Amino acid sequence: MMPGAMAKSTENHSQALFEKAQRLIPGGVNSPVRAFRSVGGTPFFTQRADGPFLFTADGTRLIDFVCTWGPAIHGHNHPEIRAALQRALDNGTSFGTPAPAEVEMAERITRTVPSVEKVRLVNSGTEATMSCIRLARGYTGRDKIIKFSGCYHGHVDSLLVSAGSGALTHGSPDSAGIPDSFARETVVVPFNDIGALQTAFAANDDRIAGVILEPYPANVGLILPDPDYLDTLRTLCDEAGALLIFDEVMTGFRVAAGGVQEAAGVRPDLTAMGKIIGGGLPVGAFGGKAEIMDRLAPDGPVYQAGTLSGNPLAMAAGNASLDLLEKHPPYDGLDRKAKRLREVVLQAAAEKGIPLQIPQTGSMFSFYFTENPVRNDRQATAADREPFSRIFHFALDHGVYLPPSPFETCFISTAHDDEVLERAAEILVKAIQAL
Ligand SMILES: *Cc1c(COP(=O)(O)O)cnc(C)c1O
Repeated sequence: MMPGAMAKSTENHSQALFEKAQRLIPGGVNSPVRAFRSVGGTPFFTQRADGPFLFTADGTRLIDFVCTWGPAIHGHNHPEIRAALQRALDNGTSFGTPAPAEVEMAERITRTVPSVEKVRLVNSGTEATMSCIRLARGYTGRDKIIKFSGCYHGHVDSLLVSAGSGALTHGSPDSAGIPDSFARETVVVPFNDIGALQTAFAANDDRIAGVILEPYPANVGLILPDPDYLDTLRTLCDEAGALLIFDEVMTGFRVAAGGVQEAAGVRPDLTAMGKIIGGGLPVGAFGGKAEIMDRLAPDGPVYQAGTLSGNPLAMAAGNASLDLLEKHPPYDGLDRKAKRLREVVLQAAAEKGIPLQIPQTGSMFSFYFTENPVRNDRQATAADREPFSRIFHFALDHGVYLPPSPFETCFISTAHDDEVLERAAEILVKAIQAL
């Protein structure tokens, strides 16, 4: 068994399942970061999840800080989402025609996300960003896209360049299988560097269709924009005639109901969404100004489609998830809880003389073992990774599941109550003390 593998149960179900999975599924996983490559050890298999907990195939209970990588803002298996799904299930699983729940979802999104007048539903965040790019190109008649190093937008060909997260910890920032000619249409600039963006615009005048970014990059750990950075981006895009595209797949309905665009007061032209809006089922969406969205087929020349788009089960879970957020806005409470956890862990690191940064906004935070605040992916990847692997494994051995990479963001949900978080804080403090 590899070092750090979970060996709580004598039967060790996860180990056996992983061995079998590796024979059947590349790397044994259906999404690379799940394989624990950047922290070492064998991934555990989850049998069921409830509230803030995962229950593993090995019979252990873990406090979950991954929250299915973003969607589970209400925790796992929320009774209202489950009930909505059960009601929808009685009516059939897919219609292939328009259905009322899609209109409800579109209404919820357009009334909540400030810049979105019209929205189209898709099945994943990747589909949403891919469609934003195509629409920006179709609308402007230009080819080039500017993206920021360390920003992840799903596994879209032309966006899988300097893309952080899984691509980063697997040492392949540019995936094999992407033609150079595609990547050449993507201009990459560092985040939080206005000068670099101005230079990129100047070098490609009148050829930039759009600028896409995670307004709070959260796939190289969590990076927050400098004050006024997003405002300046808006101005530069307007001057260049390029569309500003916010990838709010992670931040949408999480940092505020209306995402970063509400929190920071900056209006993009197009927005990609996903994760929370599916309530745990596969959903994505993209939207923006009606004038731009109307360029999509069947009204316009930009083709985009999906057999299962707007699926009734996914809509039921998503509408229930958004309804809960509207009825009981959780944002202040989540921010207070995450700040408390952050303070306790920072205190423990300070007492031990360990340099640690914990950037945090609302329910999102990450760990960088470094002296100074991190402003871009270069500084993020320069931080010491080894202490993270050690606290990851210490936490896992003591019932707390952190993301299995220093470049992923931790999440808490409304199901993480004070008691659960105090327990988790205790374990994280011990993990720091044991470094
Ligand atoms: C998760 C994520 C995506 C990709 O979404 P998938 O549903 O995994 O395809 C895109 N952008 C951001 C910012 C994300 O966090």
